[in-house]
Amino acid sequence: MKLSGKKNIVCYCIIAVIFAASLVVWYFIYNAEIENPVAKIYKNGVLIEIINISDYDLRFSFTVGTPETGINEIKVKNGEIWVGGITDCLVQTCVKTGHIGSNGRTIPIICVPNRLEIRIVGGENIHELDAVAR
Ligand SMILES: [Zn+2]
Repeated sequence: MKLSGKKNIVCYCIIAVIFAASLVVWYFIYNAEIENPVAKIYKNGVLIEIINISDYDLRFSFTVGTPETGINEIKVKNGEIWVGGITDCLVQTCVKTGHIGSNGRTIPIICVPNRLEIRIVGGENIHELDAVAR
């Protein structure tokens, strides 16, 4: 009886360690610094723009969409990309997502009402695209 109780404790410890380890792995996957981050911008599920955001030290911005499809102003600076300015969606979740890119935040910016999505991928992906194109 006593022995099986100890076994249970060992089992729980092993499970806890595995759980903690997977959390650490998850943390590093989602917070890993991406070299030469590239932003892929999708509108209505269609890839409309690929920006090598680490190439821009100075801020630049541009708008995506029309008053009918919804307008998002996208800004880029120092390897980071974010939504702001004259973005016309109601809830502004996309604006509140903040900066993503070389600061290690790689969660996608999603604007549901305007059907806009900005995803960060590593720079090597753009080279793969180049290789395919050649
Ligand atoms: Zn939005």
